[in-house]
Amino acid sequence: MQTKFTEKQLENPDVAESERILRKCVHCGFCTATCPTYVLLGDELDSPRGRIYLIKDMLENDRPATADVVQHIDRCLSCLACMTTCPSGVHYQHLIDHARVHVERTYSRPWDERAIRALLAAVLPYPSRFRLAMRLGAAMRPAAHLLPKRLGRLLAFVPSSQKGVRALFPRRNSSERVLTSFSSAPAPSSPRVAVLSGCVESVLAPQVHAAAVRLLSLAGAEVVSVPGCCGAIVHHLGREDANRRIARTLLARVRAEAEGHGLDAIAVTASGCGTHAKDYGYLFRGDAELAAPAAALAARVCDITEILDRLGLPEPTIRPGLTVAYHSACSMQHGQKVERPPRELLTRAGFVVKEIAEGHLCCGSAGTYNLLQPELAERLRERKLGHIRQAGADVVATGNIGCITQLRAASSPPVVHTVELLDWALGGPRPSALDS
Ligand code: SF4
Ligand code: SF4
Repeated sequence: MQTKFTEKQLENPDVAESERILRKCVHCGFCTATCPTYVLLGDELDSPRGRIYLIKDMLENDRPATADVVQHIDRCLSCLACMTTCPSGVHYQHLIDHARVHVERTYSRPWDERAIRALLAAVLPYPSRFRLAMRLGAAMRPAAHLLPKRLGRLLAFVPSSQKGVRALFPRRNSSERVLTSFSSAPAPSSPRVAVLSGCVESVLAPQVHAAAVRLLSLAGAEVVSVPGCCGAIVHHLGREDANRRIARTLLARVRAEAEGHGLDAIAVTASGCGTHAKDYGYLFRGDAELAAPAAALAARVCDITEILDRLGLPEPTIRPGLTVAYHSACSMQHGQKVERPPRELLTRAGFVVKEIAEGHLCCGSAGTYNLLQPELAERLRERKLGHIRQAGADVVATGNIGCITQLRAASSPPVVHTVELLDWALGGPRPSALDS
């Protein structure tokens, strides 16, 4: 694609990078067929190619984002299916990221949108605030109809049962308990693996971290837990300063671990976070101090199933005999291109793995998308749930907390994290979602 940026504009490294990306696009349109918003809406401007044109026009003309452009950019799930499909290697991820930052800097959203986005950015990355918000949400549920519509949607995160709400406040974090018991006596030559405990997942599903720690220990690793958000949530909201601040804190924690006793790998249990952390080299590319350590960290980041596959797990101790529909999160298949390890680990652990039709299409979770674009997210969810029911499996396994919360539905099989099933087969607890 021809571009007409000026020399002056190209002095800005972000613009220069976007220009490189834009030039690779040959307008072929292959990407439209696998774009969920184009599939739903049939509008070229809600396809990758259409958005690329809009972004090009906005950046080339140094123009503030308009309401119309923002609408099409906001509707993008950042699912990255278009990157999997594109034959020309267009790095749409970095382009849409740049566009979101440009929107954030140049466009004034209506007050209610600003309020909800500010609330999400101020709460979700911080587990203690998120827990408190869940408790407040549970108390406010009876008055949900009195809240502004957009704020009322936030209650979708709140567990529906009292038991679920109580589980948000464990007397002691279960993952810490497990970590202590498994990391006390590592073998002398064990690989040392840090597991990121994250933000939303640590509140809504702490059992995932606990299962990951147990499995890594069974695989012979010395495990350390590193707390803190990776920045992905605020990144998708276009808040680049907050993203860098949060990522810098996590980077410092991981570096302290690596410099102390060394780290062979950094395992992530939420694939959305894994995609983001694997891109830290790009995020800090212009930072003279952090560019090298960030790239070094990113090179060691892996999805939990990648490292378990590499280390090898013992034989299962029980054979649950269940069929599992594997839902590959977009961040897993398109963001990280991790396809084989989760399926193979589940098969080796004795589960019968089934594929879900239209597996390349997003379920509508996409970070905070289901809160900010609820109508489209709901249509994608229903479409996905229909295919899940057709698969006829006993349980759905996936590797991303967003998909787990998005796909839970009374009329469908339970949805659990892949490591919960693996852990169960290897002697850990039966996933509680199987009994609810
Ligand atoms: S990231 Fe997903 S929703 Fe956005 S343009 Fe690409 S395929 Fe479409
Ligand atoms: S498939 Fe790639 S090259 Fe073709 S229109 Fe889409 S982004 Fe451009």
